[in-house]
Amino acid sequence: MTDSILIVGGGIAGLHAAMECANAGARAIVVEQGPVVGGKLAATMTEAEAIGDRAEGVSTPLFEALQDNENIEIITLANLESLEGRPGNFTVSIHERARFVTDACTRCKLCRAVCPVVLANEYDAGLTYRKAIYTPMGETLPGAWVIDIENCLNTPPNYLPCQRCVEVCDDDAIFFNLPLDTVHERHVGAVILAPGFQIEDNASFGELGYSAHPDVVMSSELQRLLESPGPTGGYASKPSNEEYPESVLLVLDELSHFGLYIVASQVHQLLEQDVETVAVLVLSQLTKESEKSEVQELADKTGVQVRWGATFKVEPTEENTLDVSYEDFSEKRFVKETYDLVVLCSDVGPPDGLAALAQAAGIELADNGYITVTGTNGAGVSTSKPGIFVAGCASGAKNIKDSITDAHSAASCALAQLDPRLLDSESASKEEEQKPKTAAQISPDDMRSQIEQLLYALINRPDS
Ligand code: SF4
Ligand code: SF4
Repeated sequence: MTDSILIVGGGIAGLHAAMECANAGARAIVVEQGPVVGGKLAATMTEAEAIGDRAEGVSTPLFEALQDNENIEIITLANLESLEGRPGNFTVSIHERARFVTDACTRCKLCRAVCPVVLANEYDAGLTYRKAIYTPMGETLPGAWVIDIENCLNTPPNYLPCQRCVEVCDDDAIFFNLPLDTVHERHVGAVILAPGFQIEDNASFGELGYSAHPDVVMSSELQRLLESPGPTGGYASKPSNEEYPESVLLVLDELSHFGLYIVASQVHQLLEQDVETVAVLVLSQLTKESEKSEVQELADKTGVQVRWGATFKVEPTEENTLDVSYEDFSEKRFVKETYDLVVLCSDVGPPDGLAALAQAAGIELADNGYITVTGTNGAGVSTSKPGIFVAGCASGAKNIKDSITDAHSAASCALAQLDPRLLDSESASKEEEQKPKTAAQISPDDMRSQIEQLLYALINRPDS
């Protein structure tokens, strides 16, 4: 028997599930295929306010809390290779690739200046550049930098034509002779799969004007600009000249629930930043009444103009703005308008490598490529194999709040597979203590002391 739960995927759903399991006294092993955890929301996990309204009031995990939790083990640059056994007693094998930089890294940045390899930073949606030795953003978990060995000039095994980073690293944190692959074997009682989702390839948006001008951006790029900490400090900006846009058009390529959710969220963020004109165009006929009412709901929710149409075209002007033209089905006319920034909203799909993960875990995928969810047991988080659960977008695109709800359900189901006697009772009781108490649970003495503290704070307020 074991007290451990394996969580595959270190995005918002996986980390939420890990916190839940760890706080209940289980050992949570998080396996993340990238070099840092946090997934597409990693930048927002440095401080509670960074996520803004996007989590709809639900609190999201923070790096500090994850780091301080002794019941959480994080293995990055890793994948689930195989799984055997039954609920309560699985043996899993985890394949970890070398980072080439150890925990001795102090994030001094000296190596960045000397590395000659320049690449687009995928963690900033390609809006900024990184080197072959890099950290995806200002604060990460784990904190050590990483070497992108595929693009490093020191191609293994140990052919060393460069070494510039090693020479400047005063902390002796870089080693090219670390084992390239390490396999960890662990015994776990349950598995939660939370590998996230994949954003549609930008290249497929060429027809809509992507790449025609720097101010035609994808929604993933705008999101990175709107996030704090982000490349522009959290402000919308025109990539062509870094000026603030006064008018923004968001174009939804086709109608989908997830697309509408992203558009609504970005409209709110743009309006909060006082962008003067924000409009939405859905490229669809909207023949069904249900589709029209979904679009109307978006207009009501955001308070901005939402139209639908076709034959969309974008052309740069000499004034560094964008002329857009399209056939407006909502008003039955051809429209030509000018905007500072055009945002193309990409759709999402199952994450890269989900088929391989499903094969390693022995679970079924649906025809649409997402993980099949079976039965009603476990609030929609049970997979085709007992003891293996799914959380977040791997079973279909979801908003942040629903992904977190999934993570709670998956964690409860996974915890139910463990023998409660094996759980770390100290963590579980600490968690219980930290839950807000109802008035009925507070003793008269505690109540009196809380009232006294409140009165004391009021009397000693600086303005009283
Ligand atoms: S690897 Fe070395 S040089 Fe690079 S940031 Fe870390 S400590 Fe600094
Ligand atoms: S050894 Fe690789 S990571 Fe280091 S400076 Fe050279 S190219 Fe960059």
